[in-house]
Amino acid sequence: MYIAIFFYVLAIILQLFAASYAATIFFKSAAFRKSSGVLALGLLLMTERRIEPLIEMYQSQQYSIDEAIFSLVISSLLLLAMSQIKKLIALLEEQNFILDRTSKTDSLTQATSRPETFNRAELEIERALRSNIPVAFLMLDIDHFKKVNDQYGHPAGDLVLQSLTKYCQGELRVVDIFGRVGGEEFLIVLPESSEALAFDVAERLRKKIASSVAVVVDGHEVFITVSIGIAIFDPVLNGEIRPKVILNSGYKRADEALYLAKSNGRNRTESWSC
Ligand code: GH3
Ligand code: MG
Ligand code: MG
Repeated sequence: MYIAIFFYVLAIILQLFAASYAATIFFKSAAFRKSSGVLALGLLLMTERRIEPLIEMYQSQQYSIDEAIFSLVISSLLLLAMSQIKKLIALLEEQNFILDRTSKTDSLTQATSRPETFNRAELEIERALRSNIPVAFLMLDIDHFKKVNDQYGHPAGDLVLQSLTKYCQGELRVVDIFGRVGGEEFLIVLPESSEALAFDVAERLRKKIASSVAVVVDGHEVFITVSIGIAIFDPVLNGEIRPKVILNSGYKRADEALYLAKSNGRNRTESWSC
């Protein structure tokens, strides 16, 4: 008789563990919250349904050892299944995290990826619209980068892109966005920045880039210069309220200012003006 009670109690404990696994997924995983919540609830109700017959059996002193073994087997299988599901979900979430990070980062330079740059820029525009504080868009392009590749080779060119990114990321604020939007073209978004501030940032970057060694190839120090175009979105002066439209126009205007910087001799900063 005692062995049957032991099996029943053990079966209940195992089922409670299975329910606790489901509850852990419920609290930890936002993506699987609904399904794991339902599962945890189901398992708890099943456990509760097992307690009553156990009390009845105890009172009537009639036990079936076969039933007890069967209960134990079912609970063990449930626990095993739940532990596998928990492992699988942990793995899935880890892979999702890696995938998410990969899609948001440019693989060569570790700058913000092009789609993520535009997503984040739109969020900054929405913030600017709420706060009425301007946001600045800077287009930065390496001057005569083709020559660097031709003279030192593509791998050296890649190193230049990497060192430029690292340098700019180190110089900018955490809230700023440094995104690679083309081969050697970067879009910088400076939230809460006036034109004067954006110009200072651009000039500081440009001067420091021009005076620092970008990369050393076979003992040769490679220097680069960059041209920068600036466009500002000021919610107080501009009536547009659609973030996508504002982004497209900011990107286009910064690019036009960049072309002006190129045609005015390169290694310089120009602001967009109508
Ligand atoms: P400009 O001053 O007018 O910008 O001249 P540029 O030579 O920089 O511009 P152009 O558009 O003629 O050439 C851009 C070059 O950038 C050509 C291409 O080989 C190089 N490039 C683009 N992406 C990469 C990359 O990922 N790695 C390397 N090494 N080079 C790249
Ligand atoms: Mg270029
Ligand atoms: Mg270019």
